[in-house]
Amino acid sequence: MHSLCALSPSEISQALGLEKQYQGRQIYTWICRGVTSWQDMTDLPLALRNSLSSGSVPVVSSSVIDVQTDSDGACKLALSLHDSNVVECVLLTDREGEFTACLSSQVGCAMGCAFCRTGTLKLTRNLEAFEIVEQFIHLQKQAPARITHVVFMGMGEPMANLDNVLKAIEFLHDPKGLNISHRRITVSTCGVASGIDRLSDSGVPVKLAVSLVAATDEKRSALMPVNRTFSLSVLRASLVRFQQRNSRRFTFEYCMIPGENISPPDATALAGFCRNLEVIVNLIPFNPCPELPFKSPAKQEIRSFTSELDRLGVPYTIRISRGRTIRGACGQLAGKYKA
Ligand code: SF4
Repeated sequence: MHSLCALSPSEISQALGLEKQYQGRQIYTWICRGVTSWQDMTDLPLALRNSLSSGSVPVVSSSVIDVQTDSDGACKLALSLHDSNVVECVLLTDREGEFTACLSSQVGCAMGCAFCRTGTLKLTRNLEAFEIVEQFIHLQKQAPARITHVVFMGMGEPMANLDNVLKAIEFLHDPKGLNISHRRITVSTCGVASGIDRLSDSGVPVKLAVSLVAATDEKRSALMPVNRTFSLSVLRASLVRFQQRNSRRFTFEYCMIPGENISPPDATALAGFCRNLEVIVNLIPFNPCPELPFKSPAKQEIRSFTSELDRLGVPYTIRISRGRTIRGACGQLAGKYKA
């Protein structure tokens, strides 16, 4: 056993062989409060604290090995896992002062999106549910207030590790624990349609974000190899099913890459793909990274593309790029340690 995070109170009692069942609930409550030392769990008897401290089960299995904070408030952590692999997670704050944890689901990623640093790291392994929850716990320690939102937009493809992602969500959502509303949890995918179907079938009413990036099969397959398995028509069918079951508007993430996907025909294709879907497009100017061959769009290029979207009636928002000075793009910080 590497960690108690992601376990329910009864699972903790069982894992530790506790004679008094209520002590599992006490330990669970401490974990939700971010307490990761047995000795700090002060409502446990001293003898139990001492015996747990000298035992083989730690409260958390990972440790923070790097903290990088940006002037805009973004804070990125590199975590060393029990097997010395490194993942990253990010604390974001918005204008309303709310905090969001951006969590990773895998070490590296097999999807190979051309614009993503994590894609160049290849897949090492899936994260266990406890390793996902631990990211949240480490981030909460950095946040001046309670984290209220979670997005699975860090390293990895959540749909390729959906069982562990759903188990972590169960822990994060528990009203007797961290109590993060499902409506404030977003699962992102590069377009794994079978995973979207599984998420629909699970009945867990989280929000969905799809990294679209191009709205023709030719361009999307070039930038996102997943499109060769799940073409736009297959993806669209899954999205329609998701919307029918969840009655939720979802988001298309659209990373803006000059010379690739922000011409007027790209806007027209995007408008066509959005038609009859309850969707909002989140435009994300490409965050430059020395390991990738793309550059950020200039202000004028962003304006031209958004004017086209205005003309075509596509609803969109523009995400302000945060964390540029802290190796902010997905996979950049962990990539430093892998290198
Ligand atoms: S964008 Fe997401 S799915 Fe694509 S390579 Fe990066 S981490 Fe993987």
